Amino acid sequence: MNIYKFCPLCKEKLVEKIEGGYQRFKCPQCGFVHYRNPAPTAGVLVVENNRVLLVKRRFEPYRGLWVMPSGYIEYEESASETAVREVEEETGVCVELDGIHAIESCFDDPRGNTVMILYRGHITGGNLEAGDDAEEVGFFAINNLPDIAFDLQKRILGKLKEEYISSADGDN
Ligand SMILES: [Zn+2]
Repeated sequence: MNIYKFCPLCKEKLVEKIEGGYQRFKCPQCGFVHYRNPAPTAGVLVVENNRVLLVKRRFEPYRGLWVMPSGYIEYEESASETAVREVEEETGVCVELDGIHAIESCFDDPRGNTVMILYRGHITGGNLEAGDDAEEVGFFAINNLPDIAFDLQKRILGKLKEEYISSADGDN
């Protein structure tokens, strides 16, 4: 991941300082500190008839693997607005949110660490069609998912599968 080498405020070369065990880069001239924080993202888990809505990534990282529709929160957006917008851009369908499903950290995105706010949602309209940075879109059986990108998405979907299997066992 990229780290500033020069002060974005006054162009002075930044100097490495260790503070409380964390590596920081500070400007010796104006005092600017380059804090590194995970970027927030938002997405939606849509389940219909035990099938999960997924999109195939058109771009790197993890191009060709599948994810729940999600993306970076824009500065002026609320997390729920991002979630709804990303679903519409990537899958063509409109969703209404039904609450938060999970909040999970992501440490395997080469663009930088993120924190995802994942909502549950249901479809209210639109037509399923891949768009934006999705190459394909589709519903997949919870117990037969394609290759998933990102550890956090694997964790969340893996847990969903376990819950589905144990509830199906309970029905017998
Ligand atoms: Zn500076």
